[in-house]
Amino acid sequence: MALKISIPEAKAEIGIIGGSGLYDPDFVVNPVQVKVYTPYGQPSDYITVGEMAGRKVAFLPRHGRGHRIPPHRINYRANIYALASLGVKWIISVSAVGSLREDIAPGHFVVPDQFIDMTKKREYTFFDEGVVAHVSMADPFCECLRKRLIDAARRLGVSVHGKGTYVCIEGPRFSTRAESRVWKEVFKADIVGMTLVPEVNLACEAQICYATLAMVTDYDVWAEHPVTAEEVVRIMNANVSKAREILRIVVKELPAEPEAGECSCCQSLKTALM
Ligand SMILES: [Zn+2]
Repeated sequence: MALKISIPEAKAEIGIIGGSGLYDPDFVVNPVQVKVYTPYGQPSDYITVGEMAGRKVAFLPRHGRGHRIPPHRINYRANIYALASLGVKWIISVSAVGSLREDIAPGHFVVPDQFIDMTKKREYTFFDEGVVAHVSMADPFCECLRKRLIDAARRLGVSVHGKGTYVCIEGPRFSTRAESRVWKEVFKADIVGMTLVPEVNLACEAQICYATLAMVTDYDVWAEHPVTAEEVVRIMNANVSKAREILRIVVKELPAEPEAGECSCCQSLKTALM
């Protein structure tokens, strides 16, 4: 059991936000649980700061331990602010999603390159008053981090899709059949989930390199044969152990900072401030 203390000088290079199924920080060596205070309130949980594959990491379970916080109630601003205050330059986000395409099967991974925001009432920005900033979201994910996630998954022989559009719904309910058909046939989206927005754009405002490793647990309700709950759990468990292996490789091999020309995440505010 890790010690629960508050250390203002706790620092990490790489943040990992764990989604459904990935709550346990047991892959963090020499863990210290840090309570971080932010101007936006409390993060989802204590942040576990320690080592993974020889690197300093900070792990935060997005829904809190025991999955206490539903997607629409997550304090995304506090989560990103807390990780930024620990000094992280990279955030790898792991999340469970539904598939909108036959060839993206349960058990597969997707590293999305685009998203569509269908959320309704979240806190979307750190720039609420005083300073106005419009960050570019044309290419919302860190290309450097995306490449590394895809490459690590392929090296492990994991089925991974290197592109995909993630439609983020408000939740906590799932989509209706009509909505699911809109995401699939009108929006041409590939996967559906509830937690990407505003995590991704807040990371951008914080000038942190961010990418998502999405674990496909099921076909969304557009499919004629949705999988059973047992299948979802079985697939999720298998996915989580693969996700940990992918994380280990990426964390081990990430440079301290993106190499020149690989991405421009850390300069996202250069052209955003009014
Ligand atoms: Zn980047």
